[in-house]
Parts: sequence; structure tokens; C-alpha cells
Amino acid sequence: MQRGTFEFMKSVNKTTILNKIRLSGSISRADIARETGITPPTVSSIVKELIRENLVMESHLGQSIGGRKPTLLQLKEDGYYVIGLDAGSKTIKGIISDLVGHIHSRVEVEIHPNITKGEFLTSLSAVVEQLLRGFNQHIDKILGIGVAMHGVIDRETGTSLSSVNSGLINVPIKQTLEEKFVLPVLVENNSRAMTLGEYWFGNDESAVKCFAVINIGRGVGSGLIVDNKLIHGAQGVNGEIGHVSISLGGERCSCGNIGCLETFVTGDAIVLSAKRSISNAPENLTAEEVYRLAKQEKQEYIQVLEETGKFIGVGIVNFIHTVNPNKIVLSGGVMKSKEFLLPSIQQAISERVLIDKLREETVIEVSKLGDDITVLGAAALLLNELFYCYTV
Ligand SMILES: [Zn+2]
Repeated sequence: MQRGTFEFMKSVNKTTILNKIRLSGSISRADIARETGITPPTVSSIVKELIRENLVMESHLGQSIGGRKPTLLQLKEDGYYVIGLDAGSKTIKGIISDLVGHIHSRVEVEIHPNITKGEFLTSLSAVVEQLLRGFNQHIDKILGIGVAMHGVIDRETGTSLSSVNSGLINVPIKQTLEEKFVLPVLVENNSRAMTLGEYWFGNDESAVKCFAVINIGRGVGSGLIVDNKLIHGAQGVNGEIGHVSISLGGERCSCGNIGCLETFVTGDAIVLSAKRSISNAPENLTAEEVYRLAKQEKQEYIQVLEETGKFIGVGIVNFIHTVNPNKIVLSGGVMKSKEFLLPSIQQAISERVLIDKLREETVIEVSKLGDDITVLGAAALLLNELFYCYTV
């Protein structure tokens, strides 16, 4: 992520104070000084700046312990807005969100499977235009545009290098949108954007230092945040947990290898497994149908999902042993069958982790944000920049 997109975030103290206010809900100047160790005069002068910059406001009076009641400070939620775009293979979703993830407007357009690069960029721009047309406040309140795109991204140039699902290569997303709308644009891979969305809006940030999301749907991907920073790895391909081999045999994966986690746990893998093990399984079976039949207590379909849960559990154990996160959130279409998957996921983890502390202290949850997680994450790309980026 580029440093210093927002000029006004320019000191460590300012970042610390702004985040203290954001994460506290409301807090007095005296408590900020006490809890951060920054001197009261510095707190006062930085708070004055933050109020002038429309990021913080004074709210109601707090409790007094004798004497004058202190004025409390809180984040000015509608001081600024950000645009988030989730560019999927079938639709482009767009939202305008305030500083705490309240969605103020949304637009969704369908895109056809053989879309060209030009058509794709036109559709992205059209979604932004439509969002801006419905925005009834001053345009200066929009901080920028975050884009979540599937496939491999060059973040520096904001280019989508290759996306297997839509077949597009070298799409200059950042350049196109920045030229058209004269706003900062940040582009990120969709699994990482999703991780940011979950971290910002589905999680208590202050309680988690090492946080991961594993997304299980048509493919399997993951994202990792350590100390408020998304991790990318040297070539930007960390988190490709779907292509970690968990067997030397089995199906050939889309990546060319054999035995990848992805070949055992995606929606397609569940259908394949059901067709193999259930003699009268319908020819046009889907993963949704497997779930529906399991809910009707059809034992053989329940078994397919329980077996899938075991493989997901093994994948998670590999992830825990490699990364050792505090918390893993599971998301994606496959996790909609969570009531059948989770018991065997938990059992596999319980049987296989190295030490008791990992079993007891690694929090495993299923996402509660639903389908908005990625588009909120795209919006959070800008928020992450605003709240944590500073030039020293
Ligand atoms: Zn693979």
C-alpha cells in the first residue's frame, strides 16, 4: 500500500490518537493522554487538528469524578465517505460507506462472461458514476475508491495482471479510475479485501494481533493481517492455501498439481464427492442441493459434508501450524453448510494441533457479514490507509 495517500495523517502520535478515539467509541482528552502516554498538551493540539479536519467531533459530557464534567471525543462517522467496488466474475458491486462501514448507497451491475478489457473498465466506471449521482453531499467528502478484484494484482500500479475466471489480463484499473474521477484508487486481491472487511467490520480489532480469513467457495483463498497490516509476501501470492497439497493422490487441480486442498473442499469438489459415494445422486446435483438434502436428514449427504469438514479441518491445521493466528474467520459459499461442516472441522483441529494452547486459544468463527464482506473490504482499503498510514 502506498504511504501518505492522505496528507493530513502525518505523525505517529496523530495516528495513535485517532485510532484511540475510533476504537474507544467515546473518550476524554485526559484518558487519551493517560492511555497512550502522549502528553496532555500534545493530545490537545492534535485533537484540535483532527476536529478541524472533520475526522473527530466533541460529543456529550462524560461522568465527572468531582469537578467539571469532561467533554468526550468521538469519531465523526460521516466526516468522510469511501467508495468500495467488488469486481466479481458475474457482477460488479459498488457501495458508498462512511468511516465506520455504514453503507449509504449501493449499485450492482451484471457483467457477461466474455467481457473485454474495455467493457470491463467501462462497467467499473459506470458503477462509480451511478454511486456519485446518488451522493447528496459535497464530492470532497469522498476520500477515494477501493477495488477488490479476483486473481493476481499488481498493487503498485493497481493493475489486474490475470484473472482466471474472466480471462482478463493486464487491466489498468487504478490508472483508468484515477484519470476519470480524480480520486485516489487502491486495488487489492479479493481474498485480501475480504480479510480486511472482516477485520474492520466483523471483529474487535484491538483484541487480535494476527488475524486470518479463509474463503471456501468456488476456490479456496486466505488473507492475513498482522499488527493492522495486510501481508502480501515477496511475490504477492501468500495465502494461497487452496493450493497446499494435502494428499499425494486425488484429482488434478486447476493449478496443475495433484491433491491440493481445493480439490477436496470447493463446491464442485463436494458435488463430485457426492456423485461418487451416492449411487442415486442426481446428474445435475449442485453444492446447494447437497446442503438442502443434508438438511432433510438424508444421511449420505450429511456424510459427504462431514467428510468435507474433515478436509477443511486438515487445511486449517496446516494453516495454524504455519501462521499461528489468534483468530481464523471462515467465509464463502461452502461455509453456508456450517452446521454440518463445523463439528468435523473442530474435531480434525482438536485431534491434530501440536499443543493444547492452540486448541484452546485459536478462535475459529464463521463470518457473519454475509455477501457484503468483500465490498466492505474494498471500502476498508481506503480506511486502512487513512487510519494507519502516516509519513514520519
Ligand atoms: Zn492447486
